Amino acid sequence: MSQRVVFRNANIFDGSCKAPFAGEVEVTGQEITAVRRGRSTGRTRGGAGEQVIDCRGATLMPGLCDAHTHFSWNDQPSLSAIQLMPPEEHTLWCAQVAEKYLDMGFTSCVGAAAAKPRLDVVIRNAINGGQIPGPRYLANSQEIATVGGLGDVAPPHIEHEALSFGAVVSGPEEVRRMVRRFIKYGVDLIKLNLSGEEITGVPSAATVMSDEECAIAVKEAHGRGLRVCAHARSGESVRMCVRHGIEIIYHASFVDDDAIRQVVKQRDQHFVAPGLAWLVCTAREAAAWGIVPGSPLANAYEAELAAALNGLRKMHRKGVRILPGGDYGFAWTPHGRNARDLEYFVDLIGMSSMEALLSATRLGGEIMGQPDKLGQIRAGYLADLILVDGDPLREVRILQDRSRILAVMKGGSFYRAPGEKAWREPR
Ligand SMILES: [Zn+2]
Repeated sequence: MSQRVVFRNANIFDGSCKAPFAGEVEVTGQEITAVRRGRSTGRTRGGAGEQVIDCRGATLMPGLCDAHTHFSWNDQPSLSAIQLMPPEEHTLWCAQVAEKYLDMGFTSCVGAAAAKPRLDVVIRNAINGGQIPGPRYLANSQEIATVGGLGDVAPPHIEHEALSFGAVVSGPEEVRRMVRRFIKYGVDLIKLNLSGEEITGVPSAATVMSDEECAIAVKEAHGRGLRVCAHARSGESVRMCVRHGIEIIYHASFVDDDAIRQVVKQRDQHFVAPGLAWLVCTAREAAAWGIVPGSPLANAYEAELAAALNGLRKMHRKGVRILPGGDYGFAWTPHGRNARDLEYFVDLIGMSSMEALLSATRLGGEIMGQPDKLGQIRAGYLADLILVDGDPLREVRILQDRSRILAVMKGGSFYRAPGEKAWREPR
């Protein structure tokens, strides 16, 4: 007999556009089997094989989804420092970070690139196999990077392939080979670095992958049923995403009106995850690591943030799907603060708190490729649920506070039941 869990007296935010309502939710096995409106009356204790939880008005909502996750970014201040962690330690690190995401209420994450070829795949398999706790995870490739572009971090006098952060290629045939290699490893997504990134010395507004290279990568990936995502900060790189059908557009900082028009026209084909935390924190909160506000580098990120917000506001108004995920995993954007993105969406893009919550729930189900199973509280959906102390619709900020996330359930099983101790940060 399947275990049944009943959440009574909950304030239910169900991930549709509906206003939250009082009610109860029944979970049987892995799925939500009933959602009932109204105040719970009657029994407060479950029968055999049944657990009844009195939510006392706490908010029950779908688990969150982070659309731009790098488990293998290890809270270091540079790409080289991330990449230099030996593979054994790096694998353990990723396992620990995966658990942290789940503990913070993220039951789904889209891998946005791994620092070593098989890290994402190994962690996804370990989560799915029940070896380690973690969110549902789409495993990504290393960043496929062009010689001298973002991800080719080796200094000019060193053979780049051996030491680099990304999988460094040049020319369509090398791109094809690299995509096939990652498909062989078992990735769910392919990541392309189309534009630069200020901090690496390659300007964000520069486009570093050619149209031919991009086209062949997408053709190979799509031909095998994989989706593609791209680091795309320049206007031209966003246009490349539209032109080649790259489903997930990361950053989109320097979108001009022409690029916006194109994204809007194809808005059902794309997701945009801007990664605002990276821009905000690099410009304003990285002084301890030498990026002092007012310095040329910090100013460049301020300018990029302003450009990005301008474009994002326009795209949001025109119905483009914008999702949270802030490139966490650098020293000044440590893992675990991911729900900050929702605050940025409200304060900086002008989303309503309803829209911000939907971007992390319903749109999360869509980007995970399971819109009929994930991201909402509805009968027949997987029971990925979090119980939140307070009303995140009034104050999205509370989702950043671990102590306010009272319970986390994934697929009908509690990672953390109400009253259980939160995951503890290792010393
Ligand atoms: Zn990233």
